[in-house]
Amino acid sequence: MTTVAPVRHRPTITRTAGDVGTVYRFVCSCGAAGEEHAARRMAQVDLNEHVLSLPKVPAAQQCRIPRAHGRSAWEPCGLCANQTSLFDLEAGQ
Ligand SMILES: [Zn+2]
Ligand SMILES: [Zn+2]
Repeated sequence: MTTVAPVRHRPTITRTAGDVGTVYRFVCSCGAAGEEHAARRMAQVDLNEHVLSLPKVPAAQQCRIPRAHGRSAWEPCGLCANQTSLFDLEAGQ
């Protein structure tokens, strides 16, 4: 049996020195990529649009300590989701 790993998004902006000068481009580990831009902020706009286009993570699965868990804002966190359900159980008693 094979488990299909969820697509992870690691959007970054690449900088390439071309013939016409430095160009910036948004690329994501999921395969998404933007156009080449002369200005970094234009590539940043593409990046922001991609992040905003991702499905919203349900509140219960949002990571509270993304740095510690290695999550990004657009990724559900199993660790935090478990903590929430534990907390709910305790609160209900
Ligand atoms: Zn992506
Ligand atoms: Zn977390």
